[in-house]
Amino acid sequence: MILGNVYKAFNFSISMRVSNQYLSICNHCKAWCCTLVRPLVTKQEKNAIIAAGYSNFFIKYENDVYSIKPNEKGICPYLKDDYSCDIHHLKPKLCKIWPVIPRYKNGKRDYIVIKCPIFPELSKDDLKQAKNEAEAIPTPIVKYLWAISSEVRHKYKRFEYENI
Ligand code: SF4
Ligand code: SF4
Repeated sequence: MILGNVYKAFNFSISMRVSNQYLSICNHCKAWCCTLVRPLVTKQEKNAIIAAGYSNFFIKYENDVYSIKPNEKGICPYLKDDYSCDIHHLKPKLCKIWPVIPRYKNGKRDYIVIKCPIFPELSKDDLKQAKNEAEAIPTPIVKYLWAISSEVRHKYKRFEYENI
């Protein structure tokens, strides 16, 4: 589903390097990360996506926490048939930092990285940059993410993870 001047066109965007190798990894994976929990966004992120002319799939949880309503297949409606993200230039910060995930566990935030197929391609700097971005995500978003992810956390076990 990060960083840098050029965002990867596929769901994963952590790298500043856009390579066919990355595209092929995510394509082969069939955008598994986009089929997990619904991305949560701030009002500002939601407004930017709508202002750019994309369909409004958002539902409000509270003042500055919005979710993307899943489609009939139960996945993100911005995921295209070729597993690319239709809003990749404006994709939610939670998507940009994947496979780094902020959690709100036992009353405090921590950060993990899921060792999905793209993980071996990531440098320490990539992960550091992703964690920095994750730290900027508002706590209400992280709390909601942790709450709604309870229903799919077992899916994360498909891959190992570690704290960063
Ligand atoms: S789970 Fe990892 S490898 Fe799979 S699509 Fe997402 S970023 Fe790419
Ligand atoms: S907005 Fe949807 S399709 Fe785009 S990266 Fe996030 S989950 Fe995937």
